[in-house]
Amino acid sequence: MKIKSAEFILSNSDVAKCPKEKLPEYAFIGRSNVGKSSLINMLMQKKSLAKTSGRPGKTQLINHFLINKNWFLVDLPGYGYAKVSKSSKRVFQKFITEYFAKREQLLLAFVLIDSRHEPQKVDLEFMQWMGENQIPFSIIFTKADKLKPNALLRNIDTYTQKMLETWEEMPKYFATSSSHSTGREDLLKYIGEVNNQME
Ligand code: GDP
Repeated sequence: MKIKSAEFILSNSDVAKCPKEKLPEYAFIGRSNVGKSSLINMLMQKKSLAKTSGRPGKTQLINHFLINKNWFLVDLPGYGYAKVSKSSKRVFQKFITEYFAKREQLLLAFVLIDSRHEPQKVDLEFMQWMGENQIPFSIIFTKADKLKPNALLRNIDTYTQKMLETWEEMPKYFATSSSHSTGREDLLKYIGEVNNQME
């Protein structure tokens, strides 16, 4: 898929106020600092469409971007903040879970995982919650350039083994690098295919 246009539409914390258009929608979510803003900017080939952590006042909202005037890319807040009550099992905010529960246009979520790290509880719990709520998702292993190719494969294999402890199969996954544009074509091609299936 070629990106012809990418426009910011709106930010809010209320799913009821998200755009009304019934266009296919893809959400991007992960722990803070996983490389989500960099990935969105890389996919859209715009330097600062999504804000990166280097900047103050990073939004904690549901951000809608209209792509090629026919689908939405949604940048969701990072989860796993210490601010959230320690007693709470779920460390993601209520408006995020509401977004997933209520947003009918959502076709697929991309859960971003830092390819350098061992499987983290918060990510595994988040994907478990997605599964329980029947929300389709794919995994994106980010910052692939920070590892040697063998180490990347090894980490993805470790992740797959961990997932298979609770899942019947490993969800579809991608490995990306925002600094090298790795994975861009594959990811956009996949989104294009899912869009076509919906037409
Ligand atoms: P966010 O908080 O998930 O939006 O993360 P950012 O996109 O702001 O990235 C967090 C940090 O990781 C920044 O310092 C980025 O420059 C760095 N980063 C993000 N993606 C990559 C990548 O693919 N490769 C490398 N080497 N660094 C990355």
